[in-house]
Amino acid sequence: MPGNILIAIAWPYANAEIHVGNITGSHLPGDIVARYHRLKGNNVLMVSGTDSHGTPVTIAADKEGKPVEEVYKKYHAGFLDLFQLLGIQYDLFTTTHTENHFKVAQTMFQALHKNGFLFTQKSMQWYSPSAKKFLPDRYVEGTCYLCGFEGARSDQCDRCGNVLEPEKLLNPRAKTGDGALELRETEHFYLDLSKLEPEVKKFLKERSGYMREPVLGESLGKIEVEGLKPRPITRDLDWGIPVPVEGWEGKCLYVWFEAVIGYLSAAVEWAKVSGNPDAWKNWWVDPSARAFYFIGKDNIFFHTAMWPAELMGAGREFLQIFSKEDGLLTLPHDVPANQFMNLEGEKISGSRNWAVWGRDALTRYDPDALRYYLTVNMPEMHDSDWDWKEFVAKNNGELVATWGNLANRVLSFSFKHWDGTVPNVDLAALRPADLGLLAGIEAGFQSVGGLLEAVKLRAALQEAFRLATTVNQYLDQMAPWQSVKTDKDSTALTIYTALKAIDSLKVMFAPFLPFTSERLNTFFGYETSLFGESYIESVTDALGDHTVLRYRSVGSGSETRPYWKPSELRPGTKLNQPAPLFKKLEEILVVEERARLGK
Ligand SMILES: [Zn+2]
Repeated sequence: MPGNILIAIAWPYANAEIHVGNITGSHLPGDIVARYHRLKGNNVLMVSGTDSHGTPVTIAADKEGKPVEEVYKKYHAGFLDLFQLLGIQYDLFTTTHTENHFKVAQTMFQALHKNGFLFTQKSMQWYSPSAKKFLPDRYVEGTCYLCGFEGARSDQCDRCGNVLEPEKLLNPRAKTGDGALELRETEHFYLDLSKLEPEVKKFLKERSGYMREPVLGESLGKIEVEGLKPRPITRDLDWGIPVPVEGWEGKCLYVWFEAVIGYLSAAVEWAKVSGNPDAWKNWWVDPSARAFYFIGKDNIFFHTAMWPAELMGAGREFLQIFSKEDGLLTLPHDVPANQFMNLEGEKISGSRNWAVWGRDALTRYDPDALRYYLTVNMPEMHDSDWDWKEFVAKNNGELVATWGNLANRVLSFSFKHWDGTVPNVDLAALRPADLGLLAGIEAGFQSVGGLLEAVKLRAALQEAFRLATTVNQYLDQMAPWQSVKTDKDSTALTIYTALKAIDSLKVMFAPFLPFTSERLNTFFGYETSLFGESYIESVTDALGDHTVLRYRSVGSGSETRPYWKPSELRPGTKLNQPAPLFKKLEEILVVEERARLGK
């Protein structure tokens, strides 16, 4: 029976373009796993959106001298463009600035409030008398009182990684240059995480069997040492989601609290725009649903501790308030967070332009070439490094040499010598060597599939490559390029066998290399595509218009679905004119690309 798989991907802040580190950190691994489950015939819902609130966005708007709304929409449009070009197929990629998200986030707040997990507390906050406003978190910089780092944000130090108490910051200054600062009293709502600590620990222990070691260390390990402390969930900001309590006008929900709720609200919005308003419950209320969260290591604690705490704290009350129903919300199944990708040995820095930007790179390289390198180099357990020399070497030496040449060589040979068809062989005549090769390839649906299931994407792609290598070895041994001149019948068996192996490998490579796998699919003469297509739609609500990226799946009437199974290639099938799948890259571009960095 098909399972319900929620693929939840980190919400990018609308303050910068997306670079290769963001892509390999969350969007690409999420897309690979989603495509695998789609091929298997599972019910996949892949959601995310632009984080339009929070101080990173308002600071970017201040810097650009434009309204926040205009700035978030500009970056949002760029994200949608990138995902279409790179084949990141969201069922819904929306934004946090929607009426629906406001409602879902406020309901979560109310449920936690009703269940006694919120309290208010007065504290001292940095205030700018000249700007006549409080300056939250990133608006104030100063010296970290724990490690002495001079560029610390008032709420967090990027050097020692600690969460800071803003009023303790040394030498505070306004990032916007709003004169001298003073501490003034303000009141905020706090989520009482300490009350939820036993449940969060229990949840993490139950999942420790398959969560990645670094993820457990950053969550369970940290909680066991430091415990969970109450954290403020409101801010003195006017851009964001209003606190749904009378007398709290002018304050908003803190972005760390509301953006994670987007995984839930995006599913609700997707159901609404799909014309089946209750469908989100298949992933959010059905206890058998599995939710995978794809995020970078800087976000682990929010997704393994705070988000589960919000869900458990809201309990049955959320559905009671939201739709007068009974039920609990689905907790994360796995949070396969990635480490960071560096660039040529240094930390990626957008402000210094020490970055490879997704959309810019796609003007020069094919999406599958980028997807390939970003997968073999994915920072699953350790930080990795984007190196232009290695990018060219792996493209030419692995992607082109092992897989691309194999597919093109065999298809072209068959097309030429068998009149545009798959050799019309008698299947009963296949020899032990042919059957042995095919059995090995077919076992890949278990081995590659098992690794994808466990979100071990580098290993899964490596295994698919190992299988492609076995086809190359088989061809070296059978030497069809020579034997065709003397024994066309036995050569036909060899070419049929190799084509069938390639047809199966195409499916195993498809989650990683969807564009070239689709092309290969058409060379083989299939009329139904492997995947559906992405498209942009405009949605209107009480807050105005926003655009979303959506997904149109392949027609459900296709008799060949699901695809995650061995090829049943028929002898004599008509082929379409094949062509090379990948481009060989010139060495010179290493120099050119390195020259662009830091400029
Ligand atoms: Zn510090």
